[in-house]
Amino acid sequence: MRITGVEPLILRAPLGAARFLSSQSAFPERNSLLLRIETDEGLVGWGEGGQYGPPEPVAACIQAVLAPQILGRDPRQPVRIQELLYALTRDFGQKGAYVEAISAIDIALWDLTGQALGEPVHRLLGGAFRDRVHAYATGCYYRPEHQHDAAGQLPALADEARSYVDAGFDTIKMKVGLLAIADDGARVACVREAIGAQTRLLADANHAYNAYSALRMGRILEAHDVLWFEEPVLPEDLDGYRLLRQSLDVAIAGGECEFMRYGFRRLFEQGCVDIAQPDLCAAGGLSEWVKIHALASSFGIATIPHVWGSGVALAAALHALAATPPFPYTALPQPLMNEPLIEFDRNPNPLRDELLVTPPRLVDGCLPVPRGPGLGIQVDEQTLQRYRQPDLLPG
Ligand code: CA
Repeated sequence: MRITGVEPLILRAPLGAARFLSSQSAFPERNSLLLRIETDEGLVGWGEGGQYGPPEPVAACIQAVLAPQILGRDPRQPVRIQELLYALTRDFGQKGAYVEAISAIDIALWDLTGQALGEPVHRLLGGAFRDRVHAYATGCYYRPEHQHDAAGQLPALADEARSYVDAGFDTIKMKVGLLAIADDGARVACVREAIGAQTRLLADANHAYNAYSALRMGRILEAHDVLWFEEPVLPEDLDGYRLLRQSLDVAIAGGECEFMRYGFRRLFEQGCVDIAQPDLCAAGGLSEWVKIHALASSFGIATIPHVWGSGVALAAALHALAATPPFPYTALPQPLMNEPLIEFDRNPNPLRDELLVTPPRLVDGCLPVPRGPGLGIQVDEQTLQRYRQPDLLPG
């Protein structure tokens, strides 16, 4: 079997009035860099790469540099090709767009390998520990409608948080970091009251703080029984991470802006995080996930991936998490304590909800792991064409 086509596809879905904000940026649209790899035997593999920035640089890395390296190769060797592409781009890559591009290729090659063998990716990764993965809702961003009422309450934020509980979630992640600490503390209190004491609450700052502000916010989070504090400080501020981890009881999570096992090694060696959050579509793909997870487990650190983007990204994460052992093993594993979670973004995103013929659906608070060969997904061509943008480079 040979690779005959490597086609990056830029998708954009404008959100209009449904736009929302984190501490770092506004989201007027959702976008994805999808990758379609075709073979001479008619199989088509799907990947996704790049999660946070514009998709064009990732598409350019694939189109101009990486695609010519893999055309004509047998796709059934994802680990080998991932290592080769990383080695070829090391001098100018290592992090960012090149590794995101390699991630997309890697995921598509695992998809193709699984299809060629007639086996789902989670079986190729060593076998499934579970056929569904406990999901947490990512929501409660900043929205224009989150205004105080006359009584000083935040009814729209409370309603949003409650809607996740009503949908079956028992774990919810909210944003902090955009507002002054007292105002964000009021938002955390509002969400905690809305969801009740039994629902697990997580908070994500998107590296909004310096260490001393994060420490103040962390103490407020602890007072509201928040279970993890995600990206409290800049990804480069390893000393800040370590200080917070030593000073706070809340678990420190991070890593969505880190790349490859080499990047994560620094986070682990320096005692920065309790929970590592590599993104499969950014940190090096499924091949690298296995290595980052192994490294993390040797440090006693849990690995719960960051997931953002389309249904393709979600499917890749579900296969990875199906094959992740309980950590640590117990006779009765509990979500978050020792069972992994999947991040299920609840912000508007047609690329997540419409792109797959069978989109991911929550069942009893869990997402089922796809069972079909490869990633076990089918991309809806009509939806793809609806959101597809013109090609970056001619020809
Ligand atoms: Ca995050």
